[in-house]
Amino acid sequence: MARMERSCFTLDLGAVRRNAETLLRAAEGAELWAVVKAEGYGHGAVDVSKAALEAGATALCVATLPEALHLRAALRNARILVMGPVSERELGEARIARLELVAADGQVPEGVRVHLKIDTGMGRWGLSEIPAPTRDVVGVMSHLASAESDPAFTQLQVARFREATAGLGSLTRHLANSAAVLRFAESRFDAVRCGIALYGISPFGTDPADEGLEPALRWESYVALSKRLEPGESTGYGRRHVADRPTWIGVVPVGYADGFRRDMTGTDLLVAGARRRVVGTISMDALAVVLDAPVEPGTPVTLVGDGVLIEEHARVADTIAYEIAVGLNTRSGRARRVAVDG
Ligand SMILES: *Cc1c(COP(=O)(O)O)cnc(C)c1O
Repeated sequence: MARMERSCFTLDLGAVRRNAETLLRAAEGAELWAVVKAEGYGHGAVDVSKAALEAGATALCVATLPEALHLRAALRNARILVMGPVSERELGEARIARLELVAADGQVPEGVRVHLKIDTGMGRWGLSEIPAPTRDVVGVMSHLASAESDPAFTQLQVARFREATAGLGSLTRHLANSAAVLRFAESRFDAVRCGIALYGISPFGTDPADEGLEPALRWESYVALSKRLEPGESTGYGRRHVADRPTWIGVVPVGYADGFRRDMTGTDLLVAGARRRVVGTISMDALAVVLDAPVEPGTPVTLVGDGVLIEEHARVADTIAYEIAVGLNTRSGRARRVAVDG
């Protein structure tokens, strides 16, 4: 019987607070709005929201109405902005829950606080021109397409936004995401909407420490079994890893159903603190690592944390850290989730 948790996520609330403080310093007077859509990028929306608000964030941003209602149940007084579309059926619930909505398609809802969204180059949601604000309108916003990689286009979007909102000084203007807050002072306006950096993940895919950010999530498991492969023997489905010499492997009881994706073969994790390579096909509930010697069953494994970065896993999987984080399965039944005040 295992003494360890099969899949355990630990959220460091202190790290979230310190990241929020770092972003507030970078925002230089603009408000910080914490983006906690998709269950707080897989980290736990309610816990992250509370920590961010404690550190000085003044609003929460989500994508959907159910996400907002979930937050409202835990946070009676927080400002909550739903950035994605809300159906007519959901509008009544949004009013009752005192949510704020975004008008991005020409229809401006009534009886609820509204932010007008203009398209300055994202080419997705957003109006091409700002309609005359109704009395429900409290903000005007846009979204950047490539603040992490394209300074010239970002500056163009900032200039378009500045021009389009020039006469609307009484409204709250907000444009910047994490990458923009960290790189473009002129993008900050009245409020900044930060997601990824709040979690201590770099929007640039590089080491978050370079931005003064601390990863907030640890993911741990254990080696359930060590096994020696003789030359010609393999581990896992499809026999994708065949030993060419006697090889010790460790079996870790976590797989793609937990968010350790099949395209993360080849990434590193820590076994008792030492970096080990993941080999073979990742199963739904298990993966294998190469060891230099057998280890005791129950030897701790760190899949994320202690220097193993989500950014690294993303590079191996040829995707962005956002997608890895959002795909982590922290639901009960698959994982234990704890929050600590670090
Ligand atoms: C997700 C999102 C953000 C946050 O972006 P990060 O890169 O995670 O900081 C900001 N604004 C909008 C409209 C978003 O959808």
